[in-house]
Amino acid sequence: MNTSSVLSLEAVKLTYPDGDRRLTALDGVCLDVAPGELVAVAGPSGSGKSSLLAVAATLLRPDAGRVVLAGRDTAAMSDRERTALRRERIGIVFQQANLLPSLTAEEQLLAVAHLRGGSVRAARPRAAELLESVGLDAAKRRRRPHQLSGGERQRVNIARALSGSPSVLLVDEPTSALDHERGEQVVELLAEVTRRHRTATVLVTHDRALLGAADRVLSMADGRLGGG
Ligand code: ADP
Ligand code: MG
Repeated sequence: MNTSSVLSLEAVKLTYPDGDRRLTALDGVCLDVAPGELVAVAGPSGSGKSSLLAVAATLLRPDAGRVVLAGRDTAAMSDRERTALRRERIGIVFQQANLLPSLTAEEQLLAVAHLRGGSVRAARPRAAELLESVGLDAAKRRRRPHQLSGGERQRVNIARALSGSPSVLLVDEPTSALDHERGEQVVELLAEVTRRHRTATVLVTHDRALLGAADRVLSMADGRLGGG
């Protein structure tokens, strides 16, 4: 493990049941991500990108290898400890924005604060600030998902993932519903957010053309992660 990294995957293997056999989705994956670093993982559909994020998020347990998060070996923890660590440390941006249709952009963030047991009133200025920082002005912050563009919804999604001040940000195919230019803008935004909030960010995508703003681009194929 690299001592400066906040997220380390060490020789991670993950399999899924596949009839009476097992399908290997991750095959000896090693990855170290430092605070303030945006790592992009590019690979075709089925190569294991979402599985990689699920393991990094401690949502799935690897069959072998380790996931070390903020210096702690997550395999050695109870489910309860792992859930607590995940809540405290990890922000996830899933492929589908999963925004609640009846809530405004600002309320999407306030709902998270409420679920975390915090005061909604206290969360309001921070929600506004986070949404502003991803490029949503006061008028847009009052809109519901159907009144926002795909790119704007993705920005709300990113702001919401940041609302718990995570040290690790995991982002699954954020550009798949966007045209090239908007996709590139979302990657640039993620680079900016990564520096400002000092998150260790992993972005996975099948579209390698959009990744100019990433610090490192790795390739995934058949569950194996390689350089460049
Ligand atoms: P990607 O995100 O790159 O498209 P995934 O991580 O979703 O790849 O999938 C990697 C491999 O694991 C694929 O062969 C996929 O069919 C398989 N897979 C993913 N999720 C499951 C699951 N829950 N059960 C069984 N197989 C799965
Ligand atoms: Mg996927």
